[in-house]
Amino acid sequence: MSTVFKKIIDGEAPARIVYRDEQITAFWDIHRQAPVHILVVPNRVIPGANDLTPGDDALVGRMVRVAAQIAKEQGIAERGYRLMINCGSEGGQTVYHLHLHLLGGRPLGPMLAR
Ligand code: 5GP
Repeated sequence: MSTVFKKIIDGEAPARIVYRDEQITAFWDIHRQAPVHILVVPNRVIPGANDLTPGDDALVGRMVRVAAQIAKEQGIAERGYRLMINCGSEGGQTVYHLHLHLLGGRPLGPMLAR
């Protein structure tokens, strides 16, 4: 299965990549919602949170830790930031390749739009 994110991970589509290892790639979101908006994505296509298995526990933990490291590198770790995973249509997911949004660089306000 391919996704736009898989194409980025495989070097078949352009992106501003900030981190890459054997399990995870992170790159800037094409439609930034905040001064820092980076997506942390597993290299293997997992459609969404509903598809995670116990074998993915370490991977998801690593995604969070990589996001925190990137926040530090972007200079927003002390001020604070938000990590977010959207799941399914009511959760606002549009790309069915699991991804963690790292958002920050300004006060982000309430967690949900009212
Ligand atoms: P979702 O709504 O699924 O949680 O988030 C998908 C995110 O992927 C959106 O914030 C959207 O702007 C971003 N996105 C969609 N297509 C591309 C793309 O081709 N390149 C990059 N860098 N981001 C994308």
